[in-house]
Amino acid sequence: MATARTLNFNAGPATLPLPALERAQRELLDFAGSGMSVMEHSHRGKEYEAVHREAGALLRELLAIPATHEVLFLQGGATQHFAQIPMNFIDKGRTADYVVTGVWGEKAVSEGKPMAALMGGALRVALSTAEGPEGGERTYRRAPAPSEVKAAEGAAYLHFTTNETIHGVQYDGYPDGGAVPLIADMSSDILSRPVDVSRFSLIYAGAQKNIGPSGVVLVIVDKALLERSRKDIPKIFQYRVHAENESLYNTPPTFGIYLVRNVLDWVKQAGGVAEMERRNAEKARLIYGAIDAHGDFYRCPVQAENRSKMNVVFRLPSEALEEQFVGEAKKRSMVGIKGHRSVGGIRVSTYNAVSVEWVATLVDFMNEFAKRAR
Ligand code: PMP
Repeated sequence: MATARTLNFNAGPATLPLPALERAQRELLDFAGSGMSVMEHSHRGKEYEAVHREAGALLRELLAIPATHEVLFLQGGATQHFAQIPMNFIDKGRTADYVVTGVWGEKAVSEGKPMAALMGGALRVALSTAEGPEGGERTYRRAPAPSEVKAAEGAAYLHFTTNETIHGVQYDGYPDGGAVPLIADMSSDILSRPVDVSRFSLIYAGAQKNIGPSGVVLVIVDKALLERSRKDIPKIFQYRVHAENESLYNTPPTFGIYLVRNVLDWVKQAGGVAEMERRNAEKARLIYGAIDAHGDFYRCPVQAENRSKMNVVFRLPSEALEEQFVGEAKKRSMVGIKGHRSVGGIRVSTYNAVSVEWVATLVDFMNEFAKRAR
């Protein structure tokens, strides 16, 4: 019997592709004929090792990751890496530049700053697109054009967030660091569109949106950057050590990585990242189309070229109507659309595993609600 799936528009942890879950269900009690589940296997045994290697190989294939870059499966959430990145890559007396386009960029700065100072260096906000009074209510509605961003000469690296999950702000084109290494938090839009990995010295992403369950963090890092990374920090925090040990320096989150393997295999079977991009463009066209068609009722605060194709944020004329909208959607089995508590409104996350059909159902409801409730 087919499972009735809730239309889950959560921002993360988010919906996972049904085939990836069904595969886990089928394989749960007896993995590869071993009479035990994958999570009961040693992380150094051949059964788990095959999964670990396949996950890495699939990712390399899907993102066309060049041989210059290592693929790591780590832990700690993207938040831990906000601190771990400056720990590894800011040398004494050096400064790293950050571009801030939303709350996650702010968090990268606030977690990174004390670490940069501990390492004898500094962290600087090179550019922020925040609007509103300092210390007061800030909002973000845009990402800079590539030409607006200039990293300081000699900066340790230039950090930015490709998609701001809460504010729904996504880069249209990426900044060019010149000689300065680029580091990007791609937690909420990795695998949603092709990316030229060779332009980045480090890409990182929490898994719980487009890659798999929470508990796994993906890091793609240029070996040249690793060679220059600090050795005077504990080994467990050194990306270099994790690379040398193929992400098996200590026990990795084996079941999480197994599920990542299932999700990546689903992406491949579905047609790869180019097909994900096509579907995501179609979903965005549908939903922003509905917002614009009822411009006197729905309002998206984000500048047109930076409207996120992963997290669509919009407002209704009043908070009471927003509450009613969320409540009625829930009755129709559509969940996860309440905006983040810090900004309010509505947020619909349309990650890879959210189907065009789900979005079409939501859009029908939006059209109907706008006509009825105004
Ligand atoms: N960066 C971005 C862009 C995010 O969306 C999130 C989580 N939603 C984080 C970082 C933090 O991730 P975690 O909770 O896994 O630490």
